Amino acid sequence: MALIVQKYGGTSVGSAERILAVAERVKRWRDQGNQVVVVLSAMSGETDRLIGLARQIQERPEPRELDVLMSTGEQVTIALLSMALSAQGCPARSYTGAQVHILTDSAHNKARIRDIDAARVKADLDAGHVVVVAGFQGIDELGDITTLGRGGSDTSAVAIAAALKADECQIYTDVDGVYTTDPRVEPKARKLERITFEEMLEMASLGSKVLQIRSVEFAGKYKVPLRVLSSFGEGEGTLITFEEDAVENAKIAGIAFSRDEAKLTVLGVPDQPGVAHQILGPIAAANIEVDMIIQNIAAQEALTDFTFTVHRNDYARAMEILEASAKQLGARQVLGDLQIVKISLVGVGMRSHAGIASRMFSALAQEGINIRMISTSEIKISVVVDEKYLELGVRTLHEAFGLDQASAA
Ligand code: ADP
Ligand code: ASP
Ligand code: MG
Repeated sequence: MALIVQKYGGTSVGSAERILAVAERVKRWRDQGNQVVVVLSAMSGETDRLIGLARQIQERPEPRELDVLMSTGEQVTIALLSMALSAQGCPARSYTGAQVHILTDSAHNKARIRDIDAARVKADLDAGHVVVVAGFQGIDELGDITTLGRGGSDTSAVAIAAALKADECQIYTDVDGVYTTDPRVEPKARKLERITFEEMLEMASLGSKVLQIRSVEFAGKYKVPLRVLSSFGEGEGTLITFEEDAVENAKIAGIAFSRDEAKLTVLGVPDQPGVAHQILGPIAAANIEVDMIIQNIAAQEALTDFTFTVHRNDYARAMEILEASAKQLGARQVLGDLQIVKISLVGVGMRSHAGIASRMFSALAQEGINIRMISTSEIKISVVVDEKYLELGVRTLHEAFGLDQASAA
């Protein structure tokens, strides 16, 4: 007998019909003698709908109240699934995050899980129930409802799996696994049988929204066996593995991309010690995360240019702050660009293979795609390019590195 945690995303529970299909799948796993905990998202589109309603009332909704509102989406699906399971003769109980003590910090709209009291869930499992838990939500020390950030049900599932020491955490979604890149952008993308935990972490943090990054971090920290698979069909999906050797000997695991980027530049600042700090200090103080940074080499005048990127949501605030510090520094001009994206190659094989970067740059050059910024780490290379080149850039690299279905076969 195994203990399995299954998470179903928004599309997988998007209608009464879909919920009945999920119930059938859950029941099958239980009938095979497994203990099953199910974690659910809200129906697809529901969280967006709720946020839209809030914005009609308040331009920037109060985070605490937004959490009370957003968390209702998941309460609907857990109740419906429990009913569907009971109707199919499979005893089930639904719980909100608070009811099973998913304790988080108080950072509303992006709370982090601190602790889970698994006793109630375990007691139910031992009594033969399927336990259905609302994803995306928790409760803080004050008893206030919190949510975990968009896509947070993945993290709920992995955290519950860790707390229960589950044998596997299965993330059911609308694709049948983790692909070499988002199959919606490159239809030739290939499903991976396995991906290393490190690569998955990079892919998620560089924009692949198939798993929320915190869920991958959690899986790494507590060594939770994690699998991504389809709720619409059968198949083994993709296993996130901790053994590098077990993975096919590819240099590149996949390509991630992010549209959530914005670039800010300050022109003509003095090239002297302390300037980077004067520019980025106030940005950091405002809790805005800076991603890539470039400082040009000063020409004769001892003036330099400084460019960095932030999340698009932080652009307006970052611009305000930068304009103030640019004035203090006597900078010539401040520029902003929202029409940029980041494309990244990810693979542990990069450690032992030279020449990946030059191949990447030459492939992009051949398509006339100008690279605006570059950053690298041991297992990834990211470039910033104009937004209009996103699809072309991803497909070009996908082919150049032999990731297409045909070239791999
Ligand atoms: P859910 O609602 O089930 O949580 P998400 O929309 O959050 O589903 O995640 C699944 C989606 O992630 C897919 O439909 C796909 O478009 C996207 N995606 C992005 N990158 C990848 C990738 N490398 N492999 C598979 N899917 C990806
Ligand atoms: N319903 C939440 C969202 O749309 C959480 C999730 O689906 O994982 O972001
Ligand atoms: Mg998701």
